[in-house]
Amino acid sequence: MLTREDMKRLLLARGQEQEELFAESRKMRDRHWGPAVVLRGVIELTNVCRVNCDYCPMRRDNVRENDTYFLTSDEIVDIARVIKDSGIDVVLLQGGETPSVLPTLEDAIPRIRQLFDDRVEILLNIGNLRRSQYERLWALGGTSYILKHETSDPDLHLRIRHESLEARLRCMRDLQEVGFKVGTGLISSLPGQTLDSIIDDIELAGELSVDMCSVSPFIPAPNTPMSLSPIGDNELALNVIACLRLRYPHLLIPSVSALERVGGGGQSRGLDAGANVMTVNFSSAGDQERYLIYGKDRFVVTLDHVRSLVRSSGLELRGSVFVESEAMKGGAVI
Ligand code: SF4
Repeated sequence: MLTREDMKRLLLARGQEQEELFAESRKMRDRHWGPAVVLRGVIELTNVCRVNCDYCPMRRDNVRENDTYFLTSDEIVDIARVIKDSGIDVVLLQGGETPSVLPTLEDAIPRIRQLFDDRVEILLNIGNLRRSQYERLWALGGTSYILKHETSDPDLHLRIRHESLEARLRCMRDLQEVGFKVGTGLISSLPGQTLDSIIDDIELAGELSVDMCSVSPFIPAPNTPMSLSPIGDNELALNVIACLRLRYPHLLIPSVSALERVGGGGQSRGLDAGANVMTVNFSSAGDQERYLIYGKDRFVVTLDHVRSLVRSSGLELRGSVFVESEAMKGGAVI
């Protein structure tokens, strides 16, 4: 097992040592999952958020000046149909944190399940909610839920998210107790974050017994209090992915679009470092512009981009690992 000292060294690895780290990580991924990448399709529900994260252009303080939108249930189901027609069986419903999306989801989730004949993973990413609301989403047919801890340093968390880490972790436990497969995630290279703090993030993923964990390099977005902070280090983010894979081979780890934003070819390197999930964006062009997660010039991942990247990495695409279906038996190739 990797010690904290091992991780500290590996997080700083560059050149030959980094390539050896990635090779070990890939070996671990392939041994546990096979050389396969789980494909998700994301629908961005709304750009309205009640939280005020200092790094995010969709933060509460910006809502009034942003061109806000909420998808209707019909629009969500229409996009889900396109995802299905693309051969993808993981529908990621993601949005700013606001309970206003719940009535729409109440209508949309059962319709999506029906559309897929129940052979679908409904993956939600809509933030902290009350336990009773999680129970309702589970009863409606939710399968899995992403609730990133972002940073395990309670002071830093409070300082940049203006929310407590404790509340976030309590929601994660609620989700697990309700029955969801849960994913967490961290931002690396946050201003004020230490290597020790990142190692705490890695340890926390284990303590929480999550099924998924993402790593995003920090991106200073325009129109935020952190717009002038230095951009994150892709190499560090990639090394965090590799350490997570070595430490917890069972995790689903995405190669996120932020890696591409920091450095061209970043998502390919994410797969090199041991990631095994990619997410294709199915929002309309207009909504992609309004969903300002990293500002207007974010990298939008298309199906063609994912297909060519996965192929050139010598990997195969596969469906949900949480859905039991005929098509998925043996890990279907999409
Ligand atoms: S990062 Fe998420 S929770 Fe924070 S302000 Fe942006 S949309 Fe809201």
